[in-house]
Amino acid sequence: MGRYKPKQNLRTTGNYHAKKQFGQNFLCDENIISTIVNTISPQDSATMVEIGPGLGALTEPVCERIKHLNVIEIDRDLADRLRHHPFIREQLTIYEEDALNFDFSKLKEENKPLRIYGNLPYNISTPLLFHLLSFGSMIQDMHFMLQKEVVDRLIAAPNTKDYGKLTIMGQYYCRMMPFLEVPPSSFTPSPKVDSAVIKIIPYDKKPYTAENEKLMNRIVAASFNQRRKTIANSMSEFLNADDFNALGLDPKLRAENITVEQYVRIANYISQREEQ
Ligand code: SAM
Repeated sequence: MGRYKPKQNLRTTGNYHAKKQFGQNFLCDENIISTIVNTISPQDSATMVEIGPGLGALTEPVCERIKHLNVIEIDRDLADRLRHHPFIREQLTIYEEDALNFDFSKLKEENKPLRIYGNLPYNISTPLLFHLLSFGSMIQDMHFMLQKEVVDRLIAAPNTKDYGKLTIMGQYYCRMMPFLEVPPSSFTPSPKVDSAVIKIIPYDKKPYTAENEKLMNRIVAASFNQRRKTIANSMSEFLNADDFNALGLDPKLRAENITVEQYVRIANYISQREEQ
């Protein structure tokens, strides 16, 4: 399409000072940027959304490939820069808002999948992921740069230290496909930690369905709030010895030993018991 010449981008931080409170680490590695944009493979047939466009490292090359892009940026100065961007401003709808409170359903258009991506501010990535999970089925896919530690938690297996509430709720709603590790030197300023990019695909049809997802959330939260205790202790609000028996679950297990399928089974057992 070539609406702008990449060499003329406005991405150099120049005299712009990154704001720590907004988790601003700007991508500056062109190889990493192309790999991410190629993997996202933006298309006009979808409603595309970028969270935290910043100085436009991903925004500019994405706008080379599609006609229109929605961006959500909390920083007034950066939103303003994008409003005045010489090459892509007319392609953007800019929401100067906090992504944590953003109602993503308002972007959903009929017969168009919603696709979301971003190099997420690390300080809010976990609550933001939980917020996005609540829009699950209306989103086709998400590509996010995250702290590597958060990606490790999203893809963790049971019986490991990374396995927790984010793992279980994430894997309950979505398929997780990590695809790239990114060193601190790929950003300005460099973060202190490694990063990784993951593709997250909400299931059309979940492998296991909880009848009451809020209840499942509460059970998972209660068991990981006391992750060192046995589930007999941490789930005592929900299950007694007979219940463990009926479920065929060893009450001496701990939160991290329970699979997603077992959490769903526990939640459905309690829902059905409450209905009786
Ligand atoms: N996409 C750019 C890049 O890759 O260079 C910037 C990434 S930087 C890690 C995170 C961006 O998210 C910043 O532009 C920051 O201002 C923005 N941001 C931080 N908190 C936000 C929030 N709650 N809602 C929307 N944007 C936010």
